[in-house]
Amino acid sequence: MPEGDTIHRAANRLRPALVDQELKRFTAPRLVGDRPRIGERIESVEAAGKHLLIAFSGGLTVETHLKMTGSWHLYRETDRWRKPAAMARLVVGVEGWDAVCFNAPVVRTAPSGRAGRQDLGPDLCTPDVDIDRAVARARHVSEPTAEVADVLLDQRAASGIGNVYKSEVLWALQVDPFCAIGEIDDATLTALYGRANRLLLANLKTTTRTTVPGGLAVYDRRGRPCRRCGTRISSRAQGPHARTTYWCPRCQTAGPR
Ligand SMILES: [Zn+2]
Repeated sequence: MPEGDTIHRAANRLRPALVDQELKRFTAPRLVGDRPRIGERIESVEAAGKHLLIAFSGGLTVETHLKMTGSWHLYRETDRWRKPAAMARLVVGVEGWDAVCFNAPVVRTAPSGRAGRQDLGPDLCTPDVDIDRAVARARHVSEPTAEVADVLLDQRAASGIGNVYKSEVLWALQVDPFCAIGEIDDATLTALYGRANRLLLANLKTTTRTTVPGGLAVYDRRGRPCRRCGTRISSRAQGPHARTTYWCPRCQTAGPR
C-alpha cells in the first residue's frame, strides 16, 4: 500500500510538468464526478495524506487514491508506457507530457477545496504538522478498545501512515501492536506520531525506504532476527481489513509506559 511519502514523491514529480500548463487530454474511464474541460489551466498538484489532488482552473479538483494497487507515471508524449493502456484510470495530458495513473480504484472530481481532505487528519508528511491534534483526533475517531496498529492506519486521525510505517514505528517505540489505544498514554501516542512524521519526512526524497540503517526494522522480515533483541519477527493479519502487522514478540511489550 502506498504510504504518504509515495504520494508526496508522485506529486513532486508531476508538479513541474503539469502546473500552469493547459489541459490537452483528460481520459478517465471510470471517473466519478464532472470532467474538467480541455483548455483549462492546471492550478496545482498536491498530496493530501494518501490522496493526490490535481486542481483545474474551472473549479474542479480530480482526486486519486491509490489504495493497494495504484501508481502514477509521468511520460513524454513519445514514450512507451510501462503498463498496458487498459490499466490506465486517469490520463492528464499537457503539451509534451502525459501523467498517467494506473489501477487506482478511486478517481473522482469534486469542487476544489472540498476534494479529498474533509475527513483527513493532520498530514504527517509535512514538517510543521500538529502532533497534538493527531493524538486528539486518534482518541476522537476510535473506540478505546481499538488496537493501536489499526488506529495508526486511520487516516481520519492523522494521514500518511500506511502498513509499512505502522509496523516500523510500533517497533521503534517498543509498543505492542495489539494493545488497545485506551491503554496507551498520550506521551506514547505523541511519540508514535512524531516518529512516523520524522520517518516519512526522511523518506520523501529517497527511492528506497529506510527506517533503520540498512533498511526496515520489522516490515516484511517475518522469521528474521529482531534488530534489537534477536528474537524472530512475527507477522499476522490484523484489524477489519486484515492488514499484515510485523512485530517482535519479545521487545514490543510496552503498551502503557
Ligand atoms: Zn526484539
